[in-house]
Amino acid sequence: MNKIKKIGLVAHDARKQDMLDWVRFNAVSLAPHKLICTGTTGRLILEMFEAEFPGLSPDLTRLKSGPLGGDQQMGALIADDKIDILIFLTDPMTTQPHDVDVKALVRLCAVYNTVLACNKSTADFIISSPLFEESYDPIDHDYSTYLARESIGKQEMAASKSDI
Ligand code: PGA
Repeated sequence: MNKIKKIGLVAHDARKQDMLDWVRFNAVSLAPHKLICTGTTGRLILEMFEAEFPGLSPDLTRLKSGPLGGDQQMGALIADDKIDILIFLTDPMTTQPHDVDVKALVRLCAVYNTVLACNKSTADFIISSPLFEESYDPIDHDYSTYLARESIGKQEMAASKSDI
């Protein structure tokens, strides 16, 4: 993980104001990094930077809106090692139409040992950590046992196909 971090930003509707407050408070710290957002969250953050911090133009990429596949796009970036930190402000009080995507995103962060905040307090701790401005090499989980089992599974699949 380089000094310039690739930071995913996603907020459910009830948490969008929290996200804007957090980004506004940390605008100067966030601006040098690469921001990758789901559609609506990204639009609101971009509008906020333009209106309130015209001198800071962050490198911000907008994916699709979360319920339209943006969470899955974010998950694919995590699987491809293209997200270092995910700030994912979730709404625990409302059923989300894309609940499966929300769960998958949180799970992928566990799989890939990605830094994850699901609330503003954790986001505060992450951005104030000395590691936020440093290079950092997370230890990848060891999935060799799983991969070995997987290749046995593939052999079994191939065998069962040839039986048909
Ligand atoms: P949105 O998506 O930024 O497009 O609103 C957030 C989400 O995943 O619900």
